[in-house]
Amino acid sequence: MAVMCRDGYQQFVTLAGGRILCLRCTASSTRTKMQCRRPALKESRTQKCQFHGGRPHTAEVLKRISEANLLHGEATKAAKQQYRHDSALIHELEDAIHVLKMGEGPRIRGRKPMGYKPILTQADVVRMIQERLLHMV
Ligand SMILES: [Zn+2]
Repeated sequence: MAVMCRDGYQQFVTLAGGRILCLRCTASSTRTKMQCRRPALKESRTQKCQFHGGRPHTAEVLKRISEANLLHGEATKAAKQQYRHDSALIHELEDAIHVLKMGEGPRIRGRKPMGYKPILTQADVVRMIQERLLHMV
C-alpha cells in the first residue's frame, strides 16, 4: 500500500545494489530535516520503518505497552479514581470546617480535584454529608 509522499520525499528505496525496490520510510529527522533512509515495514499503514512507529498498534500490542509502562499499583485507573475521590472529599471537608467556623488558617492551595463540589453554605454541608454517606453505604 503506497502512501502519497510529501514534496521532495522519495517514495521508494533500492536495496542490495539495486536488486530490491521497496517503500521508503517517510519520517524525517528533526535535526537534519533529511528523510529516513530505511525501508518501510510492510505492515505499516503510514509507510514508516520500525524506528519511526511503523508497527501497527493492535489491541494486544497496546495492552502489552500499557503493562510494560505500569511501574506500581498507584498508577492504575482504579487507583487514580480512588485518589481523586479521596482528594475531593478532603477538599470538601476542609470547606465544611470553614463554613461551620470550626477552624481557621490557610486553605489548601492549587487546582481542585475532579469531582470536587465547593461547599459554600450550611445547606451544602448537609448535602455533602448525605451524598458521601449514601455513597459509602
Ligand atoms: Zn524511519
